[in-house]
Amino acid sequence: MYAKKRYLVFALITCIAMFLPFLQINATHFFLLSFDKKELHLFFVRFDMQELYLMPFLFIFLFLFIFFMTTLGGRVWCGWSCPQTMFRVIYRDLIQTKILNIRKSIKNKQTPAQDGFKKAFGVGIWAVVSFIAASNFMWYFVPPEDFFNYLSNPAEHKTLIGILFFITLWLIFDIVFLAEKFCVYICPYARVQSVMFDNDTMQVIYDDSRGGLVYKNGHKFEKTELKNSLKECINCEACVKICPTHIDIRKGMQLDCINCLECADACSVVMGRLNKPSLISWTSENSILTKEKVKYARFRTIAYFIVLCVAGVALFLMSGKKENMLLNINRSTELYEINQNGNVENNYIFLFQNTDKNAHSYFFDTNDTNIKISSPTEPVDIKAGAKKRVVVTLESKNLGLSTQKDTPIKITINAYAVDENATIRAKREAIFVYPKKRNIENFKKGRKKA
Ligand code: SF4
Ligand code: SF4
Repeated sequence: MYAKKRYLVFALITCIAMFLPFLQINATHFFLLSFDKKELHLFFVRFDMQELYLMPFLFIFLFLFIFFMTTLGGRVWCGWSCPQTMFRVIYRDLIQTKILNIRKSIKNKQTPAQDGFKKAFGVGIWAVVSFIAASNFMWYFVPPEDFFNYLSNPAEHKTLIGILFFITLWLIFDIVFLAEKFCVYICPYARVQSVMFDNDTMQVIYDDSRGGLVYKNGHKFEKTELKNSLKECINCEACVKICPTHIDIRKGMQLDCINCLECADACSVVMGRLNKPSLISWTSENSILTKEKVKYARFRTIAYFIVLCVAGVALFLMSGKKENMLLNINRSTELYEINQNGNVENNYIFLFQNTDKNAHSYFFDTNDTNIKISSPTEPVDIKAGAKKRVVVTLESKNLGLSTQKDTPIKITINAYAVDENATIRAKREAIFVYPKKRNIENFKKGRKKA
């Protein structure tokens, strides 16, 4: 029976989803995309919004994972992990059927729930669950430590409250009114996944070689014809009555099937009474035909697995490149200046951001021994998470370069936190412009005249 296993998986996923936002290592979450603080937390590493070079790798990894999972297990996501499926099980089977008794039985999902006070009460219970689920979803964007603070001060956080209520209302509308129509008519995943299937993909399949034909060219046989075409299937329709999307799996693979396997369980009970295995099973078309085990390792799945591993390694390596400081360097509008000593100066705007959780003092040097920093002379203090704009002057002594034109010199600027033994550091390329000789001489002549 798959139902108990599915419920266990649902419970496990719910516990993980609820608990994960509370889990922190060094005040960093497993996953958090905070638009408020402009941060991404991934695998307990904090990234600034400017470091979102990681996002394409994350999306590539997710898409490859979906392709791999769908090729291997078909609609395994729909039946075992999709929140829509889980929420419908909670609302329809737990609240309406088990708690309120307004549906006859879990085994019959075709008769609607009785109208009346109990149904309205059921919607009320679901509204509370929806609010909790919506809050849980929000915790991946507003961490729980801020979420509850913001909630206690709604006047100042109207956007958060608005989004929270919108998601709650959507969940009520979706689960109570749209129900499985969402899976059948709206969900885009259901549309695209069928192209990823092959004859070895796991699906919910009725074995017509054992059970006999019930449909021909999409049309159901008449009762009289069924007598001749049916074999082991006793046409009890337990598999049809239990189906949440109201289809008959004996018709063949259908887009409407969410692979919940409830029909397989229902047939297991019926066939079990006859000491026979279920006519509906979670297997592949080839496995049904050849009576051999499902072939998991095949070219497509192995190829997806290899590419998935490569993307996973790339994601891991890229996340290891995280810098605890960000630095943007821009030149000022003047190309250069010549100071009182006749030395050449170039001015730059350094935009520092301390992305570490502690305050630090930053300083910098250049890789060119002829070019030194003349201002600032002291390290720059920046609080945790803060940004600072610093005007930096680099000075070069007489280099005696080209007489014809200004010379751009490539330099590397090393910025580092002095209080961390320079373990927090960033390297940036920049250009120092050295003027043509005539300009320096003209400046010196001008000074003599003055
Ligand atoms: S056909 Fe079976 S597996 Fe598919 S949705 Fe209906 S009950 Fe679930
Ligand atoms: S539950 Fe099994 S025996 Fe009954 S109609 Fe469905 S396939 Fe046939």
